[in-house]
Amino acid sequence: MVFDRMKIFKTVRDLKNYLKEQRKNGKSIGFVPTMGALHAGHVSLMNQAKKKNEIVVCSIFVNPTQFNESSDLKKYPRPIKKDTALLKKNKVDILFLPSVKAVYPKGKKVKPNVDLKGLDQALEGKFRPGHFEGVVQVVHRLLEIVNPTHLYMGQKDFQQFTIIQQMINDLKMEVDLVVCPIKREKDGLAMSSRNVRLTRANRKNAVLINKVLKKAKRNLNKKTAKQIVYESLESLSQYDFKPEYFKLIHGHNLKSIRNLKTAKYVVAVTAVWAGDVRLIDNMILLKTK
Ligand code: AMP
Repeated sequence: MVFDRMKIFKTVRDLKNYLKEQRKNGKSIGFVPTMGALHAGHVSLMNQAKKKNEIVVCSIFVNPTQFNESSDLKKYPRPIKKDTALLKKNKVDILFLPSVKAVYPKGKKVKPNVDLKGLDQALEGKFRPGHFEGVVQVVHRLLEIVNPTHLYMGQKDFQQFTIIQQMINDLKMEVDLVVCPIKREKDGLAMSSRNVRLTRANRKNAVLINKVLKKAKRNLNKKTAKQIVYESLESLSQYDFKPEYFKLIHGHNLKSIRNLKTAKYVVAVTAVWAGDVRLIDNMILLKTK
């Protein structure tokens, strides 16, 4: 059954006007920002949003300011018809589909002044300069437009949601960030819009990433951080794969862990090139209160 009551907005003004009315009627708004090429991971965010909110807004916007390589931006999949059908099927209320001009109108100051406490410099920050600046910029702008009650993001992008939470805290924004677990394919590969670009062999071998993360978890009480990192990097260097990093980090501040014995929130994070496709994944190995 297709849900044909989904509203599609392309302009900021139309969306804002519509949502203003809804807010006046006391409706709560759940917001799921995406770059499209939707998969079950995105759908899980929308389902979470539906549970808590009367209106669910999903945006599809391939944000040019967060791509540090123009070829990656060009190659980013944009199956908009398929995405629209999937959103209707999942009974999303509103699809926001803005143009670059609508999000970044000329003359509008769109860069928020946020103290990210260096969170943007770690991990991905080293390999994708300017990436998080772009992410903060677009999420801030979209939050300003949608003004939701709850914002839904995936644990899949661990550093991303950590940075956005910091932005929300720093700017005292009135929105609750809800972080949703990583959806995986049957073989354990984290779902990602980039997976469709993997060669057949690399797709099959990509299960390795999840295996290495699980092995790190098993070894948490048996080996040192240094040993786990060394062995994981070695395992991830098989086939056509090249790890950019594999780290054990403190979940709150993203700093590398030296002593596992005293750590209370341990997350294994990795970025791996599978041929010419860059995959990221992570796993929470330990979280105590
Ligand atoms: P993207 O379209 O890749 O920018 O992702 C949009 C949102 O979906 C982000 O908050 C991601 O963290 C989240 N997401 C992406 N992949 C997954 C996944 N496999 N499981 C859960 N959430 C995901």
